[in-house]
Amino acid sequence: MIEKNDVPVGRFAPSPSGRMHLGNIFTAVLSWLSVKSRGGRWILRIEDLDPQRSRSEFASQIEDDLLWLGLEWDEGGVDGVGPNGPYCQSGRHTFYNKFLDYLRDGGLIYPCACRRADLHATQAPHATDGRIVYSGKCRPASTPPFTWPEGMSGCSVRLFVPDEEIYFTDGVYGQQCVNLASHCGDFVLRRADGAWAYQLAVVADDAAMGVTEVVRGNDLLLSTAQQIYLYRLLGVDAPAYCHVPLVCNAEGRRLSKRDQALSMETLRKVCTPEELIGRVAAMAGLIDHVHPCSLDELLDRFSWSAVTKTETVPALY
Ligand code: GLU
Repeated sequence: MIEKNDVPVGRFAPSPSGRMHLGNIFTAVLSWLSVKSRGGRWILRIEDLDPQRSRSEFASQIEDDLLWLGLEWDEGGVDGVGPNGPYCQSGRHTFYNKFLDYLRDGGLIYPCACRRADLHATQAPHATDGRIVYSGKCRPASTPPFTWPEGMSGCSVRLFVPDEEIYFTDGVYGQQCVNLASHCGDFVLRRADGAWAYQLAVVADDAAMGVTEVVRGNDLLLSTAQQIYLYRLLGVDAPAYCHVPLVCNAEGRRLSKRDQALSMETLRKVCTPEELIGRVAAMAGLIDHVHPCSLDELLDRFSWSAVTKTETVPALY
């Protein structure tokens, strides 16, 4: 018998800021197939860190859409079934605080008084994707421990990053090398308004939930280095990463809420679950022409080596 700890543990971590579209489903199906084809467990985590954009109706709708497709989760969801709950990030502040305390005790973080607007005004965004690389203005010259402002209110919290290369192998895109100092500089873990940064929350959660495999869109490929560095500081093995191509609309642009034809609301009206799974499988390269397909049929033929390695994949309408 396979011990629970030996099976792969994957997760799907949508942000409940709108109805899912074909791109979200593309990621969910590949993530589910990857762990289920190896007898693993699949977690549904709701990434509702941003209170302005997250709505509980969207989270319930995500669950309904996944179940309609037959993508059942073993742990998680809005009601938080399983031993590692809660599974909505809005309920996990204690975990994030503990992680931050741990980093502070290790002298690995510092308070930063720079405002977002100042950073944008004074620093040239990275040429290709508009990223801002932090200049280190507030980085303390003295070695920690140094004095923290009372309650750290009004300050964001940044992580000292080393000027060194982080190497990792992505299951789809292969060997990657990122220098954190030039990629992003010391990055924010908690914003001045107290909101937790995605980078801290995702590592705290994946580590606490025993996730061994992360499948997500390739827009997060390079930020994986930030997460791997946090795992290193935490002394926990990082999961395996498989980034998947971003799904594009007929104009070649990444899907957004405006692409109504590819939102789950429309797709559920015009397709059966098998037809939609077949479309996703053909887009991913798992079958060579579009035909209705069950998840069970795909379990036998799933392999990461078959999955398309292009940067984007056109949506099949
Ligand atoms: N919450 C992110 C999204 O909806 C996914 C982050 C992740 O999988 O690490 O795109």
